[in-house]
Amino acid sequence: MQQTAKAATVPVIVLLGAPGAGKGTQAQRLVERYGMVHVSTGDMLRAAVAAGTELGRLAKQYMDAGALVPDEVVIGIVRERLMSADVQERGVLLDGFPRTLAQAEALAEVLPGVNLPSPTVVDLKVSDDELVERLSTRRMCRSCGAIYNLRYDGLDVGDACPKCGGEVYQRDDDKPEAIRERLRVYHAQTAPLIEYYRQRGQLVEVEASGTPEEVGEVVMAALVRPVGG
Ligand code: AMP
Repeated sequence: MQQTAKAATVPVIVLLGAPGAGKGTQAQRLVERYGMVHVSTGDMLRAAVAAGTELGRLAKQYMDAGALVPDEVVIGIVRERLMSADVQERGVLLDGFPRTLAQAEALAEVLPGVNLPSPTVVDLKVSDDELVERLSTRRMCRSCGAIYNLRYDGLDVGDACPKCGGEVYQRDDDKPEAIRERLRVYHAQTAPLIEYYRQRGQLVEVEASGTPEEVGEVVMAALVRPVGG
């Protein structure tokens, strides 16, 4: 009984949106503000690739091509992560998961099983032209995963990360060929989740073409309103 009461109080938020919509950037802001655990499937898979694990070797071939890693693999790593004590204590912000209907359905099944409430789903809306521009100018820290943009932050490949001193680099899948494929995959497989969550009354839609600060304000304001309000 006690566990159920506690579960209802921890936040479960899903950040939906195309690649480049600002999921990772807004996730960093939200976890700093509210303290929930940031679970990014992209970050987990990149860590597995860097560590050269079996999962990493499997995932790399899909990621480099801009394709999705198979559902059962991603669902398995998320399920395990949601069972850990920090998520149970602080709640979770899911960034980059779910990305297919099968993943959304798996999440709906897993959450009650680990005593967590249904998610509030924030869809970050950005035009395709702006997505391509953002992805091609995006840079990332190889050590701490902080996300930068050449246009706003003036940081480029080889610079030192202002947060941790690590090396700033450009993700392989942020190069033109992979960007096109990732947007195609997003429209075919992930965009249908908008309707899925709208029908379930769990969706909050946010116009996300502004600066990270502007979008952050709108996201936080939207999260304190009741869903659908
Ligand atoms: P991201 O950092 O979220 O853009 O993810 C980078 C890449 O990791 C994606 O293009 C996919 O290849 C893979 N990936 C991340 N999350 C998922 C997911 N939920 N389902 C399948 N593949 C994923």
